[in-house]
Amino acid sequence: MKKKSDTAKKGYVFIAGAGPGDPELLTLKAVRALQDADVILYDDLVTSAIIDQFGGLKIYTGKRKDSHHFEQDAINEEIARHALEGKTVVRLKGGDPFVFGRGGEEIDVLRKYGIDYEIIPGITAAHGASAYSEIPLTMRKVSSSVAFCTGHPVNKIQVPDADTLVYYMVASSVHEVLDAVVKKGRPEETKVAIVQNATRYNQRVWTGTLGELRRKERAAYSPALLIIGENINQFIENNWFSRKKKVLTGDADPRRYSSREWLVVNFPCRRVDEADRDRLEESISNVADYPVLFFPNRFAVKYFFTYLMEFNRDVRHLANCTICTLGRPAATELQKYGIIADLALEPDSPSDIAIRLKERAITGKKVLLPGSNLVDGYLMNELSALGNTVTPLSVYLHGQQEQEESIDLEFIDEIFFSSSTCVKNFSSLYRTIPAGITVTTADSDTEREYCRLFGKRT
Ligand code: SAH
Repeated sequence: MKKKSDTAKKGYVFIAGAGPGDPELLTLKAVRALQDADVILYDDLVTSAIIDQFGGLKIYTGKRKDSHHFEQDAINEEIARHALEGKTVVRLKGGDPFVFGRGGEEIDVLRKYGIDYEIIPGITAAHGASAYSEIPLTMRKVSSSVAFCTGHPVNKIQVPDADTLVYYMVASSVHEVLDAVVKKGRPEETKVAIVQNATRYNQRVWTGTLGELRRKERAAYSPALLIIGENINQFIENNWFSRKKKVLTGDADPRRYSSREWLVVNFPCRRVDEADRDRLEESISNVADYPVLFFPNRFAVKYFFTYLMEFNRDVRHLANCTICTLGRPAATELQKYGIIADLALEPDSPSDIAIRLKERAITGKKVLLPGSNLVDGYLMNELSALGNTVTPLSVYLHGQQEQEESIDLEFIDEIFFSSSTCVKNFSSLYRTIPAGITVTTADSDTEREYCRLFGKRT
């Protein structure tokens, strides 16, 4: 390990793996690095159950929920920029950084700038999926070799000569992978498995034969792995990980409550109310002063309009603004409010964001940028470089709301409400609770609020 003291001026970077999802699969070394971090840049696949445990400035670099994402070059530069400011930076990646993780490209840049770093391995998705679905990757007499492959891009699919094949990045290319495997001579009866959301509360495993999977229309949803090989015969429906699942609302640490019988998932139930309301009211009241309104994702649109109404304004107050969106979901969300974006940018080509902005004369203007409490530095830079004065406006809390909206109640057996506020916030995200879910409450106030909002329990 390189000594920190030698390099205090230049900062220090940890390129660390976060494992496949279960927060307890972080290594002790990664935990220590995260505790020391000034800045954490994290990916799509890093769950909020992991990221919420640590302080520091957290910068999301993925494209979950179609929000704006960084291109790899921008991420590399962002890592270097913070390190050159003397910060301790953790670049946290799903699984292992060197397994389809582009960790190699990131160290190239660090080497170029002479920034010191170290690499902390993580449990790769294949190992997580294997353990949590009880499908061994090798087994005496059945499989003596295993290969990790990728289903993306489709024109580069390889089928190595190994007994067990594990394909990453297959959500949109399962059929192409299976075709390639058949072409290589594997029979249609070969056992295959799809493991979705491995090691998480919503893990789902499908097993069958290669032929059966080929006939399935939509075979996998991201993140998912495709495993091929006769070891899949070891799979059983009810394995050690098939526990009942309880949602624990509020801020309690779910690990304290998990047991061999229950897997506890935390659901903080926080709301936008924690955003800075005074600033919100001021900016929204003066929205007409901004000639440009820029929505970086659909959440920004949704929560901006919630507040617009709340502070007694409506779309007519935006009549003189040039309205920009980033990504199709943001543009579609905007249409719900009767507005067609003047400039709808596509996030897959951030390199030409500047060109498009220039074409629309979005230069030297006052720009209001609604978004989360974490400002998207990349976008700020692009806009500022064109001489614009950008005012970021926090309309929702980063991560939490995106995450909370996507908790999948289908997997849940019980919900525990720790306070009446949690019930209220929960009800603003979910109108009903599926009948099969048992609900428990902490006290009589919480119970009363639950009955008021969801009706009496039978
Ligand atoms: N570096 C990562 C892989 C990144 S590539 C690792 O070592 O695991 C992204 C792909 O990883 C996804 O498309 C999916 O195929 C796989 N993946 C990551 N997390 C997963 C999970 N929890 N369940 C299933 N597949 C996962």
